[in-house]
Amino acid sequence: SNRITLGPLVAAIDQGTSSTRFLVFNAKTAELLSHHQVEIKQSFPKEGWVEEDPKEILQSVYECMDRTCEKLTQLNIDISNIKAIGVTNQRETTLVWDKETGEPLYNAIVWLDLRTQSTVERLINKTPGKNKNHLKTGLPISTYFSAVKLRWLMDNVEKVHEAVLSHRAMFGTVDSWLIWCLTGGKKGGVHCTDVTNCLGDQSAALVGQMCFKDGQAKNTYGTGCFLLKNVGTKPVMSDHGLLTTVAYKLGRDKPACYALEGSVAIAGAVVRWLKDNLGIIQTSTELEKLAADVGTSYGCYFVPAFSGLYAPYWEPSARGIICGLTQFTNRSHLAFAALEAVCFQTREILDAMNQDSCIHLSQLQVDGGMTSNRLLMQLQADILCIPVVKPSMPETTALGAAMAAGAAEGVSVWSLNPEDLTEVTSEKFEPQINPEESELRYARWKKAVQRAMNWET
Ligand code: ADP
Repeated sequence: SNRITLGPLVAAIDQGTSSTRFLVFNAKTAELLSHHQVEIKQSFPKEGWVEEDPKEILQSVYECMDRTCEKLTQLNIDISNIKAIGVTNQRETTLVWDKETGEPLYNAIVWLDLRTQSTVERLINKTPGKNKNHLKTGLPISTYFSAVKLRWLMDNVEKVHEAVLSHRAMFGTVDSWLIWCLTGGKKGGVHCTDVTNCLGDQSAALVGQMCFKDGQAKNTYGTGCFLLKNVGTKPVMSDHGLLTTVAYKLGRDKPACYALEGSVAIAGAVVRWLKDNLGIIQTSTELEKLAADVGTSYGCYFVPAFSGLYAPYWEPSARGIICGLTQFTNRSHLAFAALEAVCFQTREILDAMNQDSCIHLSQLQVDGGMTSNRLLMQLQADILCIPVVKPSMPETTALGAAMAAGAAEGVSVWSLNPEDLTEVTSEKFEPQINPEESELRYARWKKAVQRAMNWET
C-alpha cells in the first residue's frame, strides 16, 4: 500500500487528572500526527476525598493507543515507526497493588485528596517549632504528597496492610502502575519511576516548552495550575511558599536540573465544579461565552479553596468562598469570577517567584487544557501586567515526554534548532487594562482569600 515515509516517530502517554491522551509526533519536526483522548471518572466518596479507578486508567490508555494507531493507519502512516513511548502523568496520585494477582488493592488516591489532613497536622506538631516547611526535602508537609497517602492506605485498608506484611504490595504513582502493567504486569512487569514521577506532567511541560535555561518558566492550566521555573543544577529553597523540586534528569550520566514550583490546587477543577455541581454550563467551553457576556465579575470574588490552599499559603483548613454578591449578580458574573480566580492564583505564585529571585519574568509561557479559553488568557495578561505567550501546539506536556523518550532511544527531536521545529509558533496576549485597575482588583482578591483562610479550625 501507499505508506507515507516520515522517518522515526515518538509517542507519549499523557495520563492527567481529568483525562488520558495518547499522542504521536514526528521525531524530526515535532509535528503532532495523531492523538486520542478519553475522559477519566473521578469519585468523591466522602467530603474532601478524590479517587480514580486504576483499572479504568489502564483501560483508557489501551483505548487511546488503539484509536490513535487506527487513525495513523487510516492516514497511511506505518505505526512500526514509533520508536519510543514516553509516559507523563498526574503526579502524587497514589496506588497500591498486589504483585502476584496484578489487582489494585484500593482506588488511586488523587493528589487533591484531603483525607490525610489529620496525619499532616500530627506530623507538623512533631516538627521543631511546628514548622510545616521541610528544609530537607524542599516540600512542605501537606496532604498533596504521596507519602502521607501511602501511610493512610497502610493504616486503614486491611488488604493493603496484609499485602505489605506478606511482601506482595507494590506502591507507585500512576507512571509506575502503567509501566508495570504495560511491561508484563504479574508476569514480570518493570517496577520503576524517575526522579520526577517519570517525567511527571509539570516537568514534561517544562521540557516541551523548551525551558532548558536557568530562569525560564512556564505555567500549565489543567485541573490545577502549576508554574515551574528552571533554576539550574543546584536546588534553590524558597522563602515564599514555593516548592523546590527536580525539574528533570535526562540520562543516567546527566545532572539533575531543579525547579521552583508554585502549585495551585484548583484551576480547571473550578470549571468542572460549575458544570457538574452547579449545572450552570453543559461543557467547559461554554464558560468563556457565559463570562464574556458580562465582561466583569461585578465585584464578585470566588476563592475556590476546595482542597485548602496550596502555594503560597499551604493552608489545608481554608475552604471555598464566594463574596461580594448583590441582587444584580448572576451566573455570568460567577463564571467570570471563576476565571479571574485562576488568574489571581497565578499572580500570587508569580509574585512569590519574583520575591524569591531578583530576575522578574518579562512574559509568561503557558499551556494546558484551559488555555484554549481566550478570555482567560487575556484576563491573565491583564492581572499580571505582562504578556502571556501560548504555543500554537498546546500539547506541550505530551511533547516533552515524547522528546525525552526519543532522546533516550537516540531519535531526539531537540538536537535540532528550536527554529527547525514546526510547532514553536505562538500567540501573544498583551495586557489591556491599566496597572492601577489591576492592582485594585488584586487587592480585593487578597481580602477574599483572608476570609477563606482557617475556616475549618
Ligand atoms: P489535566 O492534565 O489536569 O487532566 P487538562 O490540561 O486536560 O487537565 O485540562 C482540563 C481542565 O481544563 C478541565 O478541568 C476543564 O474543566 C478545563 N477546561 C478545558 N477547556 C476549558 C475552557 N475552554 N475553558 C475553561 N476551562 C476549560
